Amino acid sequence: MIQPATPSWKLPAALAAALLVGALLGWLADGHVAVGVALVAVAEVVLLLTRIGHQTPPMMATPAAASPLQHDRFMMRSRRIASSLRDLRNAASQLPDAVVLLDRQQQIRWFNHAAENLLGLRRPQDRGAPLQQRMAGSDLADWLRRGTQEPLSDIAAPGQADSQINVSMLPFGDHEQLLLARDISHLNRLEQIRRDFVANVSHELRTPLTVIHGYLELLDLEDVPELAPVLSEMRTQSKRMGQIVEDLLTLSRLETQHQVADERVPMASLLATVRKEAEALSQGRHRIVLESTAEADLLGSPKDLHSALSNLVSNAVRYTPTGGSIMIRWQRVPDGAVYSVSDTGFGIPATHLARLTERFYRISSSRSRDSGGTGLGLSIVKHVLNLHQAQLQIDSTPGVGSTFACHFGHARLLTPGGSDDD
Ligand code: ADP
Repeated sequence: MIQPATPSWKLPAALAAALLVGALLGWLADGHVAVGVALVAVAEVVLLLTRIGHQTPPMMATPAAASPLQHDRFMMRSRRIASSLRDLRNAASQLPDAVVLLDRQQQIRWFNHAAENLLGLRRPQDRGAPLQQRMAGSDLADWLRRGTQEPLSDIAAPGQADSQINVSMLPFGDHEQLLLARDISHLNRLEQIRRDFVANVSHELRTPLTVIHGYLELLDLEDVPELAPVLSEMRTQSKRMGQIVEDLLTLSRLETQHQVADERVPMASLLATVRKEAEALSQGRHRIVLESTAEADLLGSPKDLHSALSNLVSNAVRYTPTGGSIMIRWQRVPDGAVYSVSDTGFGIPATHLARLTERFYRISSSRSRDSGGTGLGLSIVKHVLNLHQAQLQIDSTPGVGSTFACHFGHARLLTPGGSDDD
């Protein structure tokens, strides 16, 4: 008689729990539950195959007392299971994403074909090798040393110099880990084409728009009073189109830039300018207050910082009804300094907050257009802040008002009047 192995609920339970964790991590990592589940399933298959390999006698051998029929059945079942597992592993090796299974010491246990191409791993010599050591000198090694908590974006693939990859790590099982690397070169190329297209179109539109605007300005409305409303609207619209083109060109420049010039930006004069601009735009319709206590200058691009900081003030004026107040603050906080603009305006419903810095994202298109907006202001603000390693925080309550705050770290602060080496 074949004694059936003691039924153990532990292994299936552990596998199911790992799948659940995979689903959760997949969802957390890039919003795809299925990716997490699939990857953990692959890892489980590899683990099971390894186990079968190691445990051949107890799992695969038939007990001596089995009848020939039972023996045949047993062998057939074992072969079927082994073949299914092999199929699954073969399918995993063909995945377009690089998958590397690591043990608790981050040594390589298994990897697929894409990992050979993208990460430059070689079999059989890299099996058992510590991944960090194998990736020495690359961004990936630094990331592994730092602990892999956050996914790593847009780095050169160690195995293919002209490819870029995104990398993430999914922990599972008994302190094992699954490294996943995705080739994003194609996406990057498409993104570059989009950027070039927008920049070229904007550039091409600039000259004809300047000509049209110039001629419209030359026309004297008093000479053609019957056309005065039409001409006036044409002037407004051509000015608006000109502003959109300029903002698009600014965005294209900011997008391709990786760092800014490190110049001293005197905050006292910048804040005074920003306040004057707000007063000119408001034309006495709002109470505008400036409170500057930080006693710090900024290090960065004067032109870009002026554009970002004045954009926030201009928005506060445009989205605050007559009689409202606008408060501009520049103050120290424990981790640096904050420039903030608070208004008592229309406010923004919470559902819109996360998308406000997207290009052309508006809560009310007509309100934005009527107040002279291009829909690109906050997008420019976000890019300028990114280039200065600063963060934008938006707090708003509909009907009460909004606060847009820019957090600058200590590395971007200078003592006013000091030397530029402060
Ligand atoms: P726009 O040129 O349309 O103002 P922005 O990118 O500057 O474009 O702003 C995007 C949208 O965010 C605006 O259309 C508006 O709906 C909202 N918004 C920005 N600032 C404020 C504010 N201070 N109060 C209320 N809504 C605002």
